[in-house]
Amino acid sequence: MIQEYLVASDTEDALKKKRANAKSVFYAGGTEINRIGSTVEAKTAISLAKLGLDTITDEGETIRIGSMVTLQQLIDSPLVPVWLKDAARFCGSFTKRNMATIGGNLALMSDYSYLAPALLASRCRLFTANLTEKGIYSEDSIPIREYHAYHKQFSGTLLLSISIYKDDRFVGSLRFGMSSQSQAAVTVGFGAMKDSEQVISQVRVYVAVHGKGVQRLDKVENGIENGELTRRDDVQLSVGHKLEAVDDISGSSDYKRYIASEGVGQLFSLFIKGGTR
Ligand SMILES: Cc1cc2nc3c(=O)[nH]c(=O)nc-3n(C[C@H](O)[C@H](O)[C@H](O)COP(=O)(O)OP(=O)(O)OC[C@H]3O[C@@H](n4cnc5c(N)ncnc54)[C@H](O)[C@@H]3O)c2cc1C
Repeated sequence: MIQEYLVASDTEDALKKKRANAKSVFYAGGTEINRIGSTVEAKTAISLAKLGLDTITDEGETIRIGSMVTLQQLIDSPLVPVWLKDAARFCGSFTKRNMATIGGNLALMSDYSYLAPALLASRCRLFTANLTEKGIYSEDSIPIREYHAYHKQFSGTLLLSISIYKDDRFVGSLRFGMSSQSQAAVTVGFGAMKDSEQVISQVRVYVAVHGKGVQRLDKVENGIENGELTRRDDVQLSVGHKLEAVDDISGSSDYKRYIASEGVGQLFSLFIKGGTR
């Protein structure tokens, strides 16, 4: 439970405050930190509210979304692509959407994440800030797949912003849960490119599976790219084989494998038909 609330004056100050206190967390919207039964354990909260990370800007070839941008801001902004608005709408509560941030959602990388499957499928980049062992401030830009693959190693990293390419990449995500308020059993994200000769490339398939984390299905990605998986049925079969799932309150492992394969199959089919999300 939070007993101390500090307000960082800039990004370096936030990192320094965090390093000074092992039992501290960055405080964005606070919706997970304050949730009953939260996964986040901390005594000190370091507010990111004064860091100016709450804007969405057009940078020519990319759109830059500050980590403190709320899910509602994503929905309201004309700059944000439809696929990301769709994912933000997975959060059914207007009140929560006005508090919950994109940075907090990504940092959690939860197995019922609203945004992670879509953002991972988009191949966006993340701007991050850190302190070196000697306490020197540094900023970096990393592909989101790296942030997912080495998530534990990024635990002290401050997310500054998310950079999304304004290309014609297909990105889609679908959420399957008992209701918009309950934790999803499965959330799928699918992204890919197709050139004028219909050659498919840069396929990304990510699935957040309740009880089993956010999984990258790289064998499915490779199968689609190298032409082994060309039909929706083949893609679905492959997703069902590769997905790791367990039985829990959100559904049986068989259900999760079935619904994840349906979800990816739907998005793959839409992509092949040239649809947009
Ligand atoms: C009833 C209820 C249901 C929920 N259901 C879902 C759900 O279905 N799916 C889902 O994804 N989430 C769910 N959540 C969790 C939460 O609302 C969202 O994940 C939200 O997007 C978290 O963002 P936040 O800004 O509130 O994060 P916070 O609660 O402020 O922080 C969450 C974590 O992220 C870290 N963090 C925050 N910002 C940064 C940053 N810029 N850099 C590095 N670390 C950072 C914090 O230190 C903390 O560890 C639910 C919460 C509640 C209360």
